[in-house]
Amino acid sequence: MHTHAYGNHAADRPLEALTIERREVGPTDVAIDILFCGVCHSDLHTALGEWGRTKYPCVPGHEIVGRVTAVGGEVEQFHEGDIVGVGCMVDSCGVCPSCRESEEQYCTGTGFVGTYNGDDRHLGGHTFGGYSKHVVVDQAFVLRIRHDEKNLAAVAPLLCAGITTYSPLRHWKVGPGQDVGIVGLGGLGHMGVKIAAAMGARVTVFTPSPDKREDALKLGANDVIISRDAEAMKAAEGKFDFILNTVAAPLDLDPYLRALKRDGTMVLVGVPADPHKSPDVGNLIFRRRSLAGSLIGGVKETQEMLDFCHEHGLTADIEIIRMDEINTAYDRMAKSDVKYRFVIDMASLA
Ligand code: NAP
Ligand code: ZN
Repeated sequence: MHTHAYGNHAADRPLEALTIERREVGPTDVAIDILFCGVCHSDLHTALGEWGRTKYPCVPGHEIVGRVTAVGGEVEQFHEGDIVGVGCMVDSCGVCPSCRESEEQYCTGTGFVGTYNGDDRHLGGHTFGGYSKHVVVDQAFVLRIRHDEKNLAAVAPLLCAGITTYSPLRHWKVGPGQDVGIVGLGGLGHMGVKIAAAMGARVTVFTPSPDKREDALKLGANDVIISRDAEAMKAAEGKFDFILNTVAAPLDLDPYLRALKRDGTMVLVGVPADPHKSPDVGNLIFRRRSLAGSLIGGVKETQEMLDFCHEHGLTADIEIIRMDEINTAYDRMAKSDVKYRFVIDMASLA
């Protein structure tokens, strides 16, 4: 069926209204009317072709919350009227070791199918994301939302920003008694602060922007280090068990590696268009520190994160926009002017 959507036809073209095709509901499918869709920096990287592998037309959006309108004959867990979420993936091979462990994002069989810009296994061509009115997704990639219905716009960002920060915090066993640094206070970073604090860690935000200090403390950070302040960075050396780096641009990683204790780990989740400068290996070797990466999170863990956030009363701090404000939102996002996630009210898409 035809669906109204918003996307762009080339890297140098703005996003505009367009029409896309959604498949008919198959036996294991869930059809969803999209209520809200968060705006991830990955949407911007992709739409603007910054990672160099975008298929056009590009309809971004992988922080989807909506209402079920129909389910296939074999679907038992979801019913018409349920509030559900869809994150960054809509398919994977299902049989490789990663898929069997519900780490579908690391699927080695076929690779996971992205909610947008992936290979559409049903209609051919490529997948279209949540900047649209309606989507059909296999039940295995649909999440249950337990948050209050009046908070749904602020729940949408959990589907990517939430899981991308929750997953490494869990994997590296962050908890009480630990000092955790969050680098970059944007969509991912602000969720990282909230989740790490809810896990019981002492949280410090690293940001170049002094005007984000008050916000960081309100979000749950215990401390803020202004990363342009060389003396403050020097004073932070050897203090952190774990650092989650969410910055969307090339960065000098060395001051952050030096901020780790012996055996500490810094995990990169930001995917800048141009690479970071290679760090000084001495900063790793002389304190047995680790530099790692992490990609979103599996379906099972995404459900666990949603339930954790529901239990702890966590949602994103958002600015709701109309669909036709997306190009301005991208301009602001590119300037780190986001507090702290744009969410599109899909009712604004005619
Ligand atoms: P965002 O909301 O734009 O936040 C990024 C933050 O990085 C900014 O708020 C800013 O915080 C900092 N920054 C510093 N220099 C910047 C620059 N030149 N341009 C932009 N930001 C800059 O982005 P996001 O949605 O949190 O995403 C962050 C990165 O993670 C992106 O690269 C995105 O593609 C990636 N991502 C990765 C995964 C994964 O699975 N690994 C999942 C989702 C997104 P300060 O002002 O505090 O410096
Ligand atoms: Zn994302």
